[in-house]
Amino acid sequence: MEKVIIVPETETWKVPKGYTSWQHYWEVKTGLKKRICGAVKCSGTNVMGVLVCKAVGKDKRFYVALLCNNCRRKDGVIEYIWPLALVPDS
Ligand SMILES: [Zn+2]
Repeated sequence: MEKVIIVPETETWKVPKGYTSWQHYWEVKTGLKKRICGAVKCSGTNVMGVLVCKAVGKDKRFYVALLCNNCRRKDGVIEYIWPLALVPDS
């Protein structure tokens, strides 16, 4: 399990070439197709790729997490269970 924080104002960040969305990027990088939110105790199905950073430790890079429409609006730390996909050049 990871503790992550949503990175503000990244919703319009350009998806890397060859991918149709951040969700698509996450699926290719992790090899997974999940239809349920990766936040602990959340079963939201309206999922999307959301840019996050780790809430603890020295790693300040950005990652794509798969979260639902409700969780992506949350402030503060989210406990997250699916794998993260590293954002290129972050
Ligand atoms: Zn959720």
